[in-house]
Amino acid sequence: MGSREKTVQRKIAAWGMLSAFSIVALYAASTRAQKAESMPDASAKRIYLRCGALLDGKSDAARKDVLVAVKGEKIREVGAPEVEVVAAEVIDLSHETCLPGLIDTHTHVLLQGDITAADYDEQLLKQSPEYRTILATVNARRALEYGFTSIRDVETEGAGYADADLKKAINNGVIPGPRMQVATRALDVTGAYPLLGYAPNVHVPHGVQVVDGGDEARKAVREQIMYGADWIKVYSDRSYWLRDDGVLDDIPTFTLEELKAIVDEAHRERRKVASHAMALNGVHNSLEAGVDSIEHGNYIAPEDLKTMAAHGTFYVPTIFVGAYVAEGRAAEGAPVWVKMLAVHEDTFRRAMKAGVKIAFGTDAGGFAWTVNPAKEFAYMVKWGMTPAQAIRAATASAAELLGTSDQVGTMEAGKLADIVAVPGDPLADVTQLEKVDFVMKGGVVAKGGR
Ligand SMILES: [Zn+2]
Repeated sequence: MGSREKTVQRKIAAWGMLSAFSIVALYAASTRAQKAESMPDASAKRIYLRCGALLDGKSDAARKDVLVAVKGEKIREVGAPEVEVVAAEVIDLSHETCLPGLIDTHTHVLLQGDITAADYDEQLLKQSPEYRTILATVNARRALEYGFTSIRDVETEGAGYADADLKKAINNGVIPGPRMQVATRALDVTGAYPLLGYAPNVHVPHGVQVVDGGDEARKAVREQIMYGADWIKVYSDRSYWLRDDGVLDDIPTFTLEELKAIVDEAHRERRKVASHAMALNGVHNSLEAGVDSIEHGNYIAPEDLKTMAAHGTFYVPTIFVGAYVAEGRAAEGAPVWVKMLAVHEDTFRRAMKAGVKIAFGTDAGGFAWTVNPAKEFAYMVKWGMTPAQAIRAATASAAELLGTSDQVGTMEAGKLADIVAVPGDPLADVTQLEKVDFVMKGGVVAKGGR
């Protein structure tokens, strides 16, 4: 064959291939077009919620008869015109109050309640991290069905990095659950955190990563961030006793130097620090070190409340769990837990007066997940908040603490469609929030709605 003929043949072959490609391409395009007509992209699906009343998380008052338009995973309009709702999917919540998805900023999905030390030890000694993770998948679904569309899970209590995997499984759509921010393993010093009380030659697991000294602490922070920590959790105090002057005293765990190293390292890596601090020294040192939230804060000195208000440090009071575990812990020989309740109430009221930012957090997992964490609302109201303030603590304020205000916490066009509904009026009776019967997360209905 001459070279000229070869060229012609190659050209013919090339044209043939090109037209074959063209046919495939055309076919694919037309199939896509057909699909687009017959099966609209799920991410752009339109849903309307007909809400009998609506709390948007910004105003203290409810609006009546509001139509919420949802498109894909986001809220398109709050107060959409009725005329739009032709042939669209409408979810009838006309006998309900709609509000932004609730946010619990203090949970432990890997824990199944630990009223006594024995409850805690048994979980760490007799349940494998794998088994605990399986239980946690159930807790994540429970949290979502209680109405919590976002949670900040503040450590796994000895279950390693299982919270990061749980978060991944939820985000990948493998299991249902809330949006999660996770703290992974938490930090404490040698001799301060369970399991404790075993013979020196018996090696037992710990509910935290044990660190001593600034360098070890920094390394642990780096390690936890490497494996998925959104937050760093520290235990800043332990061993509580009530002084005659009404001050709840404690043993601070970390030295101030160690705490400062942790906060500095976390902040350098753009992570925030949550500090378990129940009493005088733990709270004070945490604030000196510059943590972002005080967890529990059963007693906070007046000067420290001023510092919190001035710096915008959040207070996550976790009231309900204290009441829930008090009797059991008193029976176990620690009556201080019963007395602590009155101290806690006084601190909560002083914090409100001082203008400290308060975010809703329950310590769910510290009590069994079969108990609805929304019981916390009634305590907040009993101790001086209005229902609207308590709701804001679990929506807009909690979102501010999590740094997700641009996406959740209020019902506004452009934000994620994380919406819940309750049968009554939570402004008149805040325990209505224990009866969430509709949950939508990111435009997808997770509970109720028919
Ligand atoms: Zn906790």
